Order: sequence, then structure tokens, then C-alpha cells
Amino acid sequence: MHEFSIAESILEAVRKELASHPGARPTRVGLRIGELAAVDVDSLGFCFESVVQGTEWEGLQLDAQVCPQRRICNGCGKEFAVVEYNASCPMCACGNTTLSSGDELDFDYLEVETGGTPAIEVKGAE
Ligand SMILES: [Zn+2]
Repeated sequence: MHEFSIAESILEAVRKELASHPGARPTRVGLRIGELAAVDVDSLGFCFESVVQGTEWEGLQLDAQVCPQRRICNGCGKEFAVVEYNASCPMCACGNTTLSSGDELDFDYLEVETGGTPAIEVKGAE
């Protein structure tokens, strides 16, 4: 049920964004999910569909992007994306690195339609 509560919090974020866009109809919502967040994207999509079903936002699409884990090297300060769980720095091969992102679950953007005008993109507040 983890994914179900995430789906509900996405809708909550959509609701907040729409408060500043009266009359707008949301068409697509973007989400960034770190690969360490342990979220099943397929199952989240399914939960999201069932949460919006029967509401005024039925048909709203979820665009969930899985972001690779990123680390910062404590030797040279380089930030890098982790490939195949190799946590060593690609610049200096230093193994002393710190996780900088990878477990995030961020609201990314919301696409809305207003009247007959093309969809506009609203960036999240963060
Ligand atoms: Zn380094």
C-alpha cells in the first residue's frame, strides 16, 4: 500500500498547484523518484489511475522518472551518477564518497490546460 499513499500525496500536490490556476485542467503530472526510494513505478502508475478514476481529473497522466543514485566524492568534490552500484569516484577512483541523492520523491511539474490555449507547464515550488 506504499504506492497507494504516494499516489494520494501526488494528488494533494496537484490540488495545491491548481489553487493558483483557477479553471485549469491538469493533463499530466511529473514526478522524480530516486532509484533508492524503493518505489515500484508500475504499481504506482496503477494506484494513481485508480485514485483519479471517477474524479474530475480522470485521465490525468502520471509521468514518473526514476533518477539514478548520485554521490559526491570526498576526495575531489566531483558529483557523479552511480552506474551498476559502483560507488567509487570516476575522476580519482576514490572510494570515499557520500550519497547526495537517490532516495528522493519529488513533485516535478504539472501540465495544465486552460480554456482553448495549449498546455502550459507549471514547475514545482521546490
Ligand atoms: Zn574523486
